[in-house]
Amino acid sequence: MNHTKVLIIGSGPSGLTAAIYAARAQLNPIVIEGEPSSTTDQPGGQLMITTEVENFPGFPDGITGPELMGNMRAQAARFGADLRVTKVQKVDFSQRPFKAWLTDDVEPSISAETVIVATGARSLMLDVPGEERLFSKGISTCATCDGFFFRGQDIAVVGGGDSAVEEALFLTRFANSVTLIHRRDTLRASKIMQERVLKNDKMRFAWNSQVTEILGDEKVSGVSVVDTVTGESRVLDVTGVFIAIGHVPNTTLVEGQLDLHENNYVVTGPGSYTNIDGVFAAGDVQDHHYRQAITSAGSGCMAAIDAERWLEAQGQ
Ligand code: NAP
Repeated sequence: MNHTKVLIIGSGPSGLTAAIYAARAQLNPIVIEGEPSSTTDQPGGQLMITTEVENFPGFPDGITGPELMGNMRAQAARFGADLRVTKVQKVDFSQRPFKAWLTDDVEPSISAETVIVATGARSLMLDVPGEERLFSKGISTCATCDGFFFRGQDIAVVGGGDSAVEEALFLTRFANSVTLIHRRDTLRASKIMQERVLKNDKMRFAWNSQVTEILGDEKVSGVSVVDTVTGESRVLDVTGVFIAIGHVPNTTLVEGQLDLHENNYVVTGPGSYTNIDGVFAAGDVQDHHYRQAITSAGSGCMAAIDAERWLEAQGQ
C-alpha cells in the first residue's frame, strides 16, 4: 500500500492544477487520472473532447483542449506529481488516513492524509447514431467554448431546459440561425429565459422533435428528427449541433460519504472544504454554475492550498 500526504482523484484542469500546487509544495501528491472508457469519459476530462480553446488566459492564439491538458500534465510531472492512469474503485473517508482502492482487492491500494476529489462532471448525451463519430466535428456540448466557430452558420441546440435556452441565446450572437430541437411542445426553462428565446429573431423551433441521428461524413451536415406526435421523420439542414440536455457530476465514488446537493454536486465551503475534515473537492464535481476550464483550474489551486494549510495545522 502506498501512503501519500495528498491523493488527487481526477486529471481535468482542477485535478492537475491541484497537482502542480501540491507538488511544488513538496507534498508528493499521487494523482489518479482515470482510464479512457468512452468519448466523454477519459483522463484529462472534458477538455479532451474540445477542439480549440480560445478563452483560457495565456494563449493568445488559442490552444487545443488535448494540448492544454498535455501541458498541465507535463507541468505536474515536472514537479514530481505521481500520475497514474487508472481508476479509483472505492474510497473510505470514515477514518484517517483515508483509504482508496484501485483494484478489487480487500486491501486498499493507497492511504492518504488528505484527498482532493476532482472527478468532474459529464454532459448527458443523446446516444444516437453519428453522435460519437462527429463529436468535435460539428457536435459540441459547450457554446461558450465553441460558439465562435459557427459564425454565419445554421445550427441547432438540443434540449428544452435553462442550459439549452442559455446556449441557444448565446449562439445567436454568432450563428445565422439557431434551431432549438425539443422533444415536447413546452420549454422546461425559466419563464424569463423562455420569453427571451421566443422573441429572438434568429431562433427557430423544432417542437415535439426527438433527434434520431446526426448526419455527416467528416462533419455535421444535418440532423434527423422524428415528430413525437405524428411519427413523421424529417431532416434539419444544420452544420452544427449543441447538445444541452443536462450534466451529471461524477460523484458515484463519494456518494454516502460526502454531502451532496440535491442535484448530486459535492457541497463545498468555505473554499474547497467538504463535510469531512481533510477531504477537499475542486472543479466541476462541485460547481454546476460556471463549469469553465479556468474556474476549474482556479478551484484546484484553492484545494491544494487548503490541503497544505490543513496538513500544516495538523502538525504535518
Ligand atoms: P434540465 O433542466 O434537466 O433540462 C434538460 C432538458 O433536456 C429538458 O428539457 C429535457 O426534456 C431535455 N432532455 C433530457 N434528456 C433528453 C434526451 N435524451 N433527448 C432529448 N431531450 C432531452 O437541465 P439543464 O437545462 O442543464 O438545467 C439543469 C439545472 O441548472 C436546472 O435547475 C436549471 O434551471 C439550472 N440552470 C440554470 C441556468 C440559469 O439560471 N442561467 C442556466 C443553466 C442551467 P424534457 O423537458 O422533456 O424533460
